[in-house]
Amino acid sequence: MGSWGWAWRVAVLGTKREECGSCGRIGVHVLARRARWGRLCRIPLVPVGVQVGMLCVACGQWTAIGWRSMRRGTRKGRLPLLRSRPVFEAAAAELELETGHRPTPAEALDRVTVNR
Ligand SMILES: [Zn+2]
Repeated sequence: MGSWGWAWRVAVLGTKREECGSCGRIGVHVLARRARWGRLCRIPLVPVGVQVGMLCVACGQWTAIGWRSMRRGTRKGRLPLLRSRPVFEAAAAELELETGHRPTPAEALDRVTVNR
């Protein structure tokens, strides 16, 4: 008899800069597809659930992203996400005062480096 358990299989799709909704840091997030497998005696047997999303490198927070957005993002190299970014907004406002130019999320965060 072996022990029944779970295992994650992760495929890295690319990387992107983003503000983390958990730790609030603006940094690299790994875009990934992950599948949960039921396993017996360390042998993965059945895929149970597949998700796409991004993982904060700083704190490990997983944020789900829609399949369509992810596919479009990795094809076009840009992945705009509609989410609140309080740290980014504050930093952008400060930069605007210093430089007269306010960086937008499109300039600073949307670009995706695709893993090929
Ligand atoms: Zn984080």
